[in-house]
Amino acid sequence: MLIILLGPPGAGKGTQAERLVHKYRLVYIATGDILRGAIKSGSALGQQARQYMEQGQLVPDDVVVGIVNERLLEPDCEGGALLDGFPRTVVQARALDQVLAAMDKPLDRVVHISVNEEELIARLTGRRVCRECGATYHTKFNPPRVRNVCDQCGGELYQREDDSLATVTERLAVYRKQTEPLIEYYRQQDLLSTINGNQEIEQIFTQICAILDAME
Ligand code: ADP
Ligand code: AMP
Repeated sequence: MLIILLGPPGAGKGTQAERLVHKYRLVYIATGDILRGAIKSGSALGQQARQYMEQGQLVPDDVVVGIVNERLLEPDCEGGALLDGFPRTVVQARALDQVLAAMDKPLDRVVHISVNEEELIARLTGRRVCRECGATYHTKFNPPRVRNVCDQCGGELYQREDDSLATVTERLAVYRKQTEPLIEYYRQQDLLSTINGNQEIEQIFTQICAILDAME
């Protein structure tokens, strides 16, 4: 099963992905996480990506397409994968179509999580992420049991640099301009399922599971 989670920054893609990869045993491919890992390790990829990410801009298509193509070819993806944060442009979507065709693998479904802009800003500016395991929390909407401590691994929670209000505003504008056209791209291929993301985390999860279960 190959699934894409599509939606604006803050829609809850990572939150849902944590639950979905566990339930459906999918390999989780989140380009944002891969790029943040590269920055942390100080690799050439990280150095290339850093300035774009700090400014809320997209990293160039060829860079992210290369990362995802390589990852999809690894043997653990045989059983299925969940893509979060990729594709983000029509160029990336076309490149994904090509690599999947070459691998003779279908794209099974694109789950689009739709959330209004005011809510997105509240979600992003209150987001906290575990430094150790990457689990996602929110200071108000999904707080950890102990302040700034991850429920799952005890790691320290931090606020992403690009979750400041100024960068969030830029990221949402970038989403509208460069990523939103993908909704139509996948609708035309009859692959799109849209979920109302302005609901409780568990409600959204149940609805995504219903879509995926109907495919099996
Ligand atoms: P994305 O991966 O799409 O950028 P996240 O999953 O990181 O989004 O969620 C953004 C923030 O919103 C996080 O702080 C998360 O805890 C919170 N969040 C996620 N889903 C919901 C929801 N349904 N209702 C309220 N807050 C949510
Ligand atoms: P995310 O963790 O998905 O919110 O992504 C954080 C940042 O990483 C984005 O604002 C971009 O700068 C970069 N990024 C992640 N995925 C992509 C992608 N598919 N294409 C271009 N840039 C990306």
